[in-house]
Amino acid sequence: DLLVVGSANADLVVGVDRRPGPGETVLGSDLVVHPGGKGANQAVAAARLGARTALLARVGDDAHGRLLRASQQEAGVDTGGVLAGGAPTGVALITVDPSGDNSIVVSPGANARLTPEDIRAAAPLFASARVVSVQLEIPLDTVAETARALGPGARLVLNPSPPAPLPAEVLAACDPLVVNEHEARYILGGSAGGTPESWARGLTALGPRSVVITLGAEGALVADTRAGDPVRVPSPQVDAVDTTGAGDAFTAALAWRLGLGEELTEAAAFAVRVGAAAVTKQGAQASFPTAEEVSAL
Ligand code: ADP
Repeated sequence: DLLVVGSANADLVVGVDRRPGPGETVLGSDLVVHPGGKGANQAVAAARLGARTALLARVGDDAHGRLLRASQQEAGVDTGGVLAGGAPTGVALITVDPSGDNSIVVSPGANARLTPEDIRAAAPLFASARVVSVQLEIPLDTVAETARALGPGARLVLNPSPPAPLPAEVLAACDPLVVNEHEARYILGGSAGGTPESWARGLTALGPRSVVITLGAEGALVADTRAGDPVRVPSPQVDAVDTTGAGDAFTAALAWRLGLGEELTEAAAFAVRVGAAAVTKQGAQASFPTAEEVSAL
């Protein structure tokens, strides 16, 4: 089974003609509320593909929390690990201007209250997980506890987003570390000139057993310390409509296929197709494909 440990947010979206300045009020469009957060997105993406998926997350005891739980259940995710209370559900307050540019304020809310103790209390979920996927929209000590909680033979897939300095212990547990170009450069600390191949060498030197770098329309680069040189995995060409959530769809697909026992390159070849399918539709969770839609690509 796949266990996703991470964030769940309500995305509150309003269109505006222009953004308000300090002390100013502007009128916007009707509010649209979408389920989001990287953890919730990955769990929905995996379940929609057919993966047996559980989500370990924390929401508030409020309407947004119920919306998030319902969207997970609708996709077929096991929500027994979705904890409630301690703070309001995390929200992203998003204004979109006529040129399509977003301004976003995130209130982490309950996501910031997902504790190492919550991880230890979820031992049964870890016991049945062959792959555990985690991101950085929850506290770093909770991520570190997640790495310690893996069952024997289980793999940790970490997408360090938003990027933050990672303890060596967490880096060493990643198999793979999944980064986009921006996250790769952040972790390599500015010293990252060169090619994705050179970034992959720099990242594997930090301790992960494997690294996957997503390269947008170019697909991905896979580097496994147990195999030879880094391998490019091209993405199918599609008409990109909205890339929101593409990375989450990619990572969820990769984690699921690794759990089925596929090799990293094989799993990445499936994941680029899932990422490509996700960019052909608007939205994050709304854009995630079923397995049939991936085969049809
Ligand atoms: P992120 O969304 O985290 O920035 P990327 O932009 O690298 O990550 O996209 C993740 C994956 O989604 C890529 O590896 C690729 O499979 C797919 N993807 C993203 N953009 C496109 C695109 N324009 N055309 C085809 N596939 C894409």
